[in-house]
Amino acid sequence: MSLEHFSVGQLMELDACTRCGQCVAQCPTYAEAQDESIHPLGKIALEKEMIRRQFSWWAHLPGLGRENGALAQLSKGVFRCTLCARCAVVCPVGLHTRTLWLGMREQMVALGQYPEAFNRLRETLSTARNISGDPNENRGLWADGLPEKPAGLVGKRQAETVYFIGCVGAMFPMAYGIPQSLSQTLTYAGVDYTTLGGEEWCCGFPLLLAGMRSAAIELIRHNVETVRAMGAKRLVASCPSCYHTWHTDYPAILGQPLGFQVLHATQLLAELVERKQIRLGPVEQKVTYHDPCDLGRTSNIYDEPRFLLTSLPGIELQEMKDRRERSLCCGGGGDVEMVDAALSAAVAKRRVGQAKDTGAQVIVSACQQCKRTLAGAVRKEKARMKVLDITEIVWNSVSSSQ
Ligand code: SF4
Ligand code: SF4
Repeated sequence: MSLEHFSVGQLMELDACTRCGQCVAQCPTYAEAQDESIHPLGKIALEKEMIRRQFSWWAHLPGLGRENGALAQLSKGVFRCTLCARCAVVCPVGLHTRTLWLGMREQMVALGQYPEAFNRLRETLSTARNISGDPNENRGLWADGLPEKPAGLVGKRQAETVYFIGCVGAMFPMAYGIPQSLSQTLTYAGVDYTTLGGEEWCCGFPLLLAGMRSAAIELIRHNVETVRAMGAKRLVASCPSCYHTWHTDYPAILGQPLGFQVLHATQLLAELVERKQIRLGPVEQKVTYHDPCDLGRTSNIYDEPRFLLTSLPGIELQEMKDRRERSLCCGGGGDVEMVDAALSAAVAKRRVGQAKDTGAQVIVSACQQCKRTLAGAVRKEKARMKVLDITEIVWNSVSSSQ
């Protein structure tokens, strides 16, 4: 076992945990699974146990240096964490828990203790360049549903903005409404934009989460070089995980700035509303807003989605009990669905329960994966609610103004 997956600061963080337990009540997957290897306290205790047995004086005592099952338990727990970062919000000593869990995942991969599903994920991404495994040229199929394809929609050189659609929006028909809506709004607003078509490769986020950072490098380099070669000034993503990966992980991994701005769709749409580049018509609906973890807690974007929703005439926004920094995960994060689909669904059911309590007709989110996960729970629960992405409700409003 090696400690190379943790920085010195992170090793100190493992020691700094006071075992106060405040994080335990925040953990949505522990709340469902009741398995102590999942919650932060459990994972930290198992990691420290493993380190002690390998590196302390224990390691020199006959028998005591041996692995005692902590590795298997930690692997089970760390891959059932949605990486939602809710634990970090309440930690009184300010542990950066999400990055600790990511370090543990990388360590588990190096030790060969990780779910077999991740080998298939790595293989699919290295050959198909998208998470569905379908031919990557299919990334453009969503545009067949547009009433009219704008000129320069794919591969336009020197377009000001590149719209990075993301694997779920581009490859899963149930999410096509998101790129269709954002694309039509951008066209209506006169934004000079283009997309990458089959040259868009997965952003690498699922591999970074899986603890397979080295396998993501080729995807990252390809994407950055492609956008740089096109000469765009900014990149917009409707997926918060793509946004976070481009905005925060890419410059850190490449060790250099990208040379263009990275925005989430909610930031760009808020800018268009503020500049009055889009006219908004009535959308008479009572809605609630679900903060995606990668937009809220990990990217600190809470206000723009709420500004957008409250700008739409006729919208009544009812907040859920857990919102903003305390928002509950939808269950779709951390690749957990690949490992334990029932656990992911149970977390989604809990979130839909909170949405139902608001009396809203629509759950609005700003993430294609949240839409997919929450819509699945709404169907299973036979809840009388719709799930829409914010790009879709904004486009509904823009089109009702025409
Ligand atoms: S990141 Fe979320 S799921 Fe993981 S331990 Fe923290 S609260 Fe639990
Ligand atoms: S809240 Fe922070 S200090 Fe307290 S048990 Fe959890 S990780 Fe440790």
